[in-house]
Amino acid sequence: MNKLQLLLAAGLAAVAGLSQTMAADEFDYPLNRITDKIQVIYGPLEMPDEHNRGFRNNVVIVTTSAGIVLFDPGGSAWTGEMVAKKIRTITDKPVVAVFDSHAHGDHWLGNEGVRRVFPDALIYGHPNMKARLEGSDGTTWLETINRVTSGRADGRRVIAPDRTVDDGDEVRIGDTGFRIIHTGRAHTDNDISIEIIGEDAVFTGDVVRNDFLGMMQDDASFSGNVAAIDRLVDINARYYIPGHGRVAGVDMPPRYRNYLTTLIDAVQQNMDDGLADFEMKPAVTESLAAYRDWANFDRYLGSHISRVYLELEAEAFE
Ligand SMILES: [Zn+2]
Repeated sequence: MNKLQLLLAAGLAAVAGLSQTMAADEFDYPLNRITDKIQVIYGPLEMPDEHNRGFRNNVVIVTTSAGIVLFDPGGSAWTGEMVAKKIRTITDKPVVAVFDSHAHGDHWLGNEGVRRVFPDALIYGHPNMKARLEGSDGTTWLETINRVTSGRADGRRVIAPDRTVDDGDEVRIGDTGFRIIHTGRAHTDNDISIEIIGEDAVFTGDVVRNDFLGMMQDDASFSGNVAAIDRLVDINARYYIPGHGRVAGVDMPPRYRNYLTTLIDAVQQNMDDGLADFEMKPAVTESLAAYRDWANFDRYLGSHISRVYLELEAEAFE
């Protein structure tokens, strides 16, 4: 081997070593332009783990004349800090406000990381969301994300909203207005969706997911979620930004709505036939065959069936 070959070999070995040590958390999550004012960082669709460091939701970045506004800064302090540092590389403007769509940890645990970089950012959320974070939900989420990421979420404290917003509120930040939509119990009892006025865009939070199934807890209402989607579709915006999955047009939210109504109808049908929730899973799964390719379908369908069953049972006694 001559000197040049030796140098080449050393260089190749260094490159190979570099790619081997490059962990998933060093992956550069790109910004995706939606409009001149709006960019989205798509989160991974996998469950939170030490590789994604708790990042798995869509982060929305809105540029206003007064500074940057974020929706859902990610599912861990690490994510929020990563997003904040990325914003630093593209603009001199600070993050002035953060809206958290609901109390599930993958949407708000990033508050902490944003505040490390932008201590003056004001955090907004629904009153029920603030109450949950200040109650036991906040610390439960923080402990859970640190555990499932083997500490790589880097979470140290719960940062709850400074200000509360509710249905019909319009928050003006610089040259941009943010209209809040809350229709009661839907994906949770504390969802907010946000219309970005003048941009023809709606951020749905988890009231709509695109080709993605996820957690529903005991504060969810499947029928309420359907009603909430109807409100969002009535806006007839050009861009719908879901909590998980890709941004799409007004035809996208009805696909998630169809999943919910097909599920509700299938569970009702099987209840009418006298089946218990654990007995009806094969039949309901068959009814939902069109959605089988959605991310996390197998993981969450069983719990969705159980929750719809309880909801229909409760409605029957009302
Ligand atoms: Zn959620």
